Amino acid sequence: MTQQPPPAASRDALEARLHQQALLAEFGRRALGSVSFDSLLDEATRMTAVGMQVRFCKVLEYLPGENRLLVRAGVGWHEGVVGQVKIGAEMSSPAGYALHTGKPVISNHLPGEERFTTPDLLLDHGVKRALNVILLGDGQPFGVLEADSEAAGAFDDHDIDFLQAVANLLGLALERRRAEDALRQINETLEQRVSAEVAERRQAEDALRQAQKMEAVGQLTGGVAHDFNNLLLVIMGNLELLGRAVAADERLSRLVATAHKGATRGAQLTSRLLAFARRQTLRPERRLINDMIRELDVLATRMLNESVAVEFALDPAVGACEVDPAQFSSALLNLVVNARDAMPDGGTLTVFSRQLVLDARGAARHADAQAGRYVVAEVADTGSGMAPEVAERATEPFFTTKPAGKGTGLGLSQVYGFVRQSGGFLSIDSAPGLGTRIGIHLPEVAGQAAEPEVAPAAQTGAGVILVVEDDADVRELVALQLEDLGYASIIAGSGPEALEILAAPGTPAIDLLLTDVVMPGGMNGVELVAEARRARPRLKALLTSGYTAGHGPGERGAAAADLGLLSKPYQQADLARAIREAIGRG
Ligand code: ADP
Ligand code: MG
Repeated sequence: MTQQPPPAASRDALEARLHQQALLAEFGRRALGSVSFDSLLDEATRMTAVGMQVRFCKVLEYLPGENRLLVRAGVGWHEGVVGQVKIGAEMSSPAGYALHTGKPVISNHLPGEERFTTPDLLLDHGVKRALNVILLGDGQPFGVLEADSEAAGAFDDHDIDFLQAVANLLGLALERRRAEDALRQINETLEQRVSAEVAERRQAEDALRQAQKMEAVGQLTGGVAHDFNNLLLVIMGNLELLGRAVAADERLSRLVATAHKGATRGAQLTSRLLAFARRQTLRPERRLINDMIRELDVLATRMLNESVAVEFALDPAVGACEVDPAQFSSALLNLVVNARDAMPDGGTLTVFSRQLVLDARGAARHADAQAGRYVVAEVADTGSGMAPEVAERATEPFFTTKPAGKGTGLGLSQVYGFVRQSGGFLSIDSAPGLGTRIGIHLPEVAGQAAEPEVAPAAQTGAGVILVVEDDADVRELVALQLEDLGYASIIAGSGPEALEILAAPGTPAIDLLLTDVVMPGGMNGVELVAEARRARPRLKALLTSGYTAGHGPGERGAAAADLGLLSKPYQQADLARAIREAIGRG
């Protein structure tokens, strides 16, 4: 049998279908490409109109909130339809039916349609027949793809297949777009998180670097100040003795007095440097921070002129801390003076107190801070503020932006060292033109605050004192001073030597062991006292130190062993009083 050529009508249909296949293949490629979803919708409607040889095509997007369908994309429609016109999504419309049932809907004769009411949009455009298929994205109805024709004819199953194939490709493209959006969003939040974390880490690194810098400067300053302190002790002590020896000669006495004044100034400078290096002798007491601030009230106000308003904003709930009250007020006064200097044209100075609970993350942002509970005293001013490079160096000793004679650059360094030695940290918030806020943070302690104790007056005495001191000059000086005060002294250069003397049979009764805290030779003053008391449990003892690391053996040991601590450099009267107290101790 020879093959019959197909009849003309079915040949046209076949060609049309082949054309559709070619269009679909092309569209599929486009859909997988990187075109935007909106232009893909446009292309889909254009291509559908061509492939199905109809004048109208549209994508209807379902708006669940309104239960309506928006003409999201389309071809053939009057101006103002695409992107604007909405039609009802009820089951009674062909599109609504397709949407809700998921089934394709063919209406080949809309004017005579009895199952559905024809939307005005179609009537307005003279549409006679319509084909609707559902458009799904991620299994959810996105909307409807619809082909409409004003010309006579009939849609058939092949048309459904074609239209559904287009809708499926669109659905895939939609899914992909949503996945990409989600991914982009994840990436963006990830990026945000990473940059936030990088910023946080940078802050922590800056804080660490700052802490290390201060540590290094502190070590250096502390070392120099310590040696200097011993020198000054020798100079001042000798000058005192010399002064007494030349008391009859007025001219010589004046020279000695001048020299003594100079040495005293040096000693003051040294003590400020030791404060910065966290090596001053502190006498911590348990006090309420609000009480200490109130004590300062009058003093602080007197230092300021009328153009500066002083305000106190104290939180009554703030607890107690263990701190040297005298050093605390000196620190606060330093801050007040700085605030005053920053407001030459007047302004407001506010002293705050508050409570702070710092977690590890918050602590990482501050140089020197550790997580924990703090009581905070802050001094805020409305003055000039500091540039970042000034704020960064403000606590360095000798750093000042003030003219010579006006600033020493030792105020903040002293505050810094004191606060650190007290177990706390200092915060500086400042910006040029926005004022400054400096906070003293001290670890909170539980319990009642103590009353300050009053020191008894100086007095000369009698007795035998065993002096232990590794510095030969200081040793000699102390012996002279003791002699001058009426005491007899026995001298030892180290802890072991002192123990030997104590154990020797010929040694007279010792009324007091006077020992330096920090000594070479493997035994410090506190250990020496403990060791000596094994043989002589009732032995009285007094520690001296010019070098008391805040948490080192000196201070803590002295407190634990209930020993007096005399800090260098000291005047003879201080020595006399301390000895009297130590001998008077139980
Ligand atoms: P001094 O006051 O002698 O200059 P400080 O150690 O007290 O030394 O302060 C160091 C520097 O820090 C000051 O010279 C000033 O530049 C800056 N500074 C301190 N406190 C403030 C403040 N409240 N406002 C602006 N700058 C300040
Ligand atoms: Mg100052």
